[in-house]
Amino acid sequence: MLCCSASHAISFIKVPLGVVLAIPPFNYPVNLAVSKIGPALIAGNSLVLKPPTQGAVAALHMVHCFHLAGFPKGLISCVTGKGSEIGDFLTMHPGVNCISFTGGDTGIAISKKAGMVPLQMELGGKDACIVLDDADLDLVAANIVKGGFSYSGQRCTAVKVVLIMEAVADTVVEKVNAKVAKLKVGPPEDDCDITPVVTESSANFIEGLVMDAKEKGATFCQEYRREGNLIWPLLLDHVRPDMRIAWEEPFGPVLPVIRINSVEEGIHHCNASNFGLQGCVFTRDINKAIMISDAMESGTVQINSAPARGPDHFPFQGLKDSGIGSQGITNSINMMTKVKSTVINLPSPSYTMG
Ligand code: NAP
Repeated sequence: MLCCSASHAISFIKVPLGVVLAIPPFNYPVNLAVSKIGPALIAGNSLVLKPPTQGAVAALHMVHCFHLAGFPKGLISCVTGKGSEIGDFLTMHPGVNCISFTGGDTGIAISKKAGMVPLQMELGGKDACIVLDDADLDLVAANIVKGGFSYSGQRCTAVKVVLIMEAVADTVVEKVNAKVAKLKVGPPEDDCDITPVVTESSANFIEGLVMDAKEKGATFCQEYRREGNLIWPLLLDHVRPDMRIAWEEPFGPVLPVIRINSVEEGIHHCNASNFGLQGCVFTRDINKAIMISDAMESGTVQINSAPARGPDHFPFQGLKDSGIGSQGITNSINMMTKVKSTVINLPSPSYTMG
């Protein structure tokens, strides 16, 4: 691009950063690797992929496919190993010019150590689902079950807390419970809806949140059941703000319901969270929905649908502890390039050439 004034001309171009370090999480080890690889290569960078340990085999097969397709070796390098052991070496390496990370709190620690390199951080969430009196309650129930329990709740944009107006709460809870009863629980090989969570420590963490809610008086809509890492879907009603599950991300098939008496109460709870990834609001009043969306401190708000990452060309970002920067192909390409300017100082009118 070229711009001129009377005495200057400036040309500026976008140049690649160099080496992008891409670190995806276990729950989408291929999809969330490709969403970093694509823009990094389009922008002219090379890439080092550090896949999640649980998901590393899938990532290695994927990189092999790139090589089979003719991508030169070395353009995408895959380095496997536990993040706790090799992570600092990679993220603080002077040869790394940009870090695109998706995962949990680890991203906050990385951002403190990384130094002067552009960061794209897509971290955890506590996506709130605000349900107003006038909502289509069948639509609400379907979206709470899809949003809260698909992938056994192991999605960054899963519905992680339902904030529901008291007047419709009983009806919605009943409708959700009827759907939860139909979820098939078991191993993934049997095509089940709810399958074991990723590790024993994840299952233990989820159980800790459930037991805390139990001690503090939450209503269990289903019996709490666990076998190894398999946790049966559980809706917790009458959750209060003093319970950990009101604020923490279980990353499992356990969903808290907080009954509210006003829209402001719902927005207040949503905004008191350290997270700000996505949220959703159910109402037939579009003006009210947009007002609530504007008031919610989250990167995206879905109206009348559960949170979701969406197509790759949509911007995708978290506020507060949910991240730095924005993904989506255009935003990622911009973030993975730098502007380089050349200014040509034009001779003044009194200057004579030659
Ligand atoms: P995680 O524990 O933070 O790990 C994410 C990635 O970081 C993994 O590849 C991990 O490798 C690596 N890692 C761990 N320690 C590291 C270190 N010190 N330095 C560099 N890399 C390190 O997250 P996760 O359990 O895989 O994923 C679940 C979390 O991701 C949830 O909080 C979820 O909300 C979030 N998430 C966010 C989005 C989003 O777009 N906002 C999308 C999906 C998931 P190892 O596997 O080897 O430890």
